[in-house]
Amino acid sequence: MEQITRLVIEAINRMETEKKSDGFAVPVGVSARHVHLTQEHVEALFGPGYQLTKRKELMGGQFASNETVTIVGLKLRAIENVRVLGPVRKASQVEVSATDAIRLGMKVPVRESGDIDGSAPVAIVGPKGAIYLNEGCIVAMRHIHMSPADALAAGVRDGDFVSVKADNERGTTFDHVKIRVDESFTLEMHIDTDEANAALISTGDMVTIVD
Ligand SMILES: [Zn+2]
Repeated sequence: MEQITRLVIEAINRMETEKKSDGFAVPVGVSARHVHLTQEHVEALFGPGYQLTKRKELMGGQFASNETVTIVGLKLRAIENVRVLGPVRKASQVEVSATDAIRLGMKVPVRESGDIDGSAPVAIVGPKGAIYLNEGCIVAMRHIHMSPADALAAGVRDGDFVSVKADNERGTTFDHVKIRVDESFTLEMHIDTDEANAALISTGDMVTIVD
C-alpha cells in the first residue's frame, strides 16, 4: 500500500514538471482593424479643437474611442466604421489585416506598430474632412505584451522572437512572435482577425510559448 502511494505521488510529481516545461500560457486578444491619429489629424477629420472620447479602456493607457473613420485605398476602395484608438500619437497609423489590404487594393507590409517608414499610403475620411498619408498603413506584426515579472517567468526578454502554439482542433503554430515587455502591459498575445480566423482562435483563448 505504501509503495502504491509512493508510485502515485511520483507520477503526479512527474506530471507537474512536465506541465511546467510544457510552455508558458498566454491569453490571446484579437485586434480588429483600427487607426491611431495625431491631434492635428483628429482635428482635420472631426473639426477644430476636437478631442477623442473614451469608449473602452485598453492596456498600457490606450483606449478605444467612440470615433470611427473610413479608410480609402486605391481606386477609391474603402472600408467604413474603422475604430480610432486613443490617446493621440506622434504619427498617424492605420492597422489592417491582409484581407483588408486586398479589399483596399493595396500592398501593405507587415510591421511592428510605430514602424511606418516606407509603409503603404492610405486616405482617411472623417465627418468633417479627409487626410492623405504618404505612409502609415501596416499589417501589424503579431506580438506578446508582458510585464517584467511575466518575462522572467517565461524566460524571455523584450525584443525576443518566440513560437506560440494554439492547441485547438485546428492546431496552429505561430513563428516570429515578438515579445514586448513593459510595466504597463498585462499578459496578452495580439493577433489580427485574419490570423485568429485562420487558426480558429477567439479573444480569451489560451496559447503557449513553445520555443
Ligand atoms: Zn498589442
